Amino acid sequence: MKKITIAVDGFSSTGKSTMAKQLAAALGYVYVDTGAMYRAVTHYAIDQGFIDQHVDATALIAHLPKINLEFVPNPATGRSDMYLNGKNVEKEIRTMKVSKQVSQVAAITEVREKLVEMQQQMGKDKGVVMDGRDIGTVVFPDAELKLFMTASAETRAARRYKELLERGEQVTYDEVLKNVRERDWIDSTRETSPLRKAADAIELDNSDMGLQEQFERIHEFAKRVIAK
Ligand code: C5P
Repeated sequence: MKKITIAVDGFSSTGKSTMAKQLAAALGYVYVDTGAMYRAVTHYAIDQGFIDQHVDATALIAHLPKINLEFVPNPATGRSDMYLNGKNVEKEIRTMKVSKQVSQVAAITEVREKLVEMQQQMGKDKGVVMDGRDIGTVVFPDAELKLFMTASAETRAARRYKELLERGEQVTYDEVLKNVRERDWIDSTRETSPLRKAADAIELDNSDMGLQEQFERIHEFAKRVIAK
């Protein structure tokens, strides 16, 4: 069976990773969460003291060769965990502390260059579902199937808030909504590969639609693209 590349882009907390994970599992494809990579670099920068109010981009760029990222399958969850320099940082990278800084780090051109190159390597044999912000525009502009996911900021903040509470984080809904809006703004206005919908991407708004219903439609569509 022919293998294709599936790019899933969109704003934060639009259900991209849920959709991408389900699609990858249903098709027997590899799933790559590129946000985890930007989050791991951010965690490294925080750990090294490179972030005060702003990110010390010069210091972080000098350290980029020392940052080793790896996805390691976790048999307990059936998913892959992010490892930073040999250490599992899956939990740390999902905190609000990292969410608050990640868009600033992701706006640094040199950081993007390093991570985009790694992502292109990971997907070079196709059979991959990759989710992020620039997959259909920059990482794999020739992807056979591109999805662009949106939902209202309020819907997204409510989903994220629920997730964070379930993980035991002490946050307020307003704090999460503010973070969602801030990341949208930084991600869409940055100079290097801003978040935008590729001309040939299918736009999916799930403000009022269940993610499962949306997944079923896309899964059928993906099977048709693969069979073509
Ligand atoms: O997908 P997730 O919300 O975990 O991504 C965290 C942040 O990483 C995004 O808000 C964005 O700033 C950055 N990112 C990016 N390009 C990608 C994936 C994520 O700039 N391909």
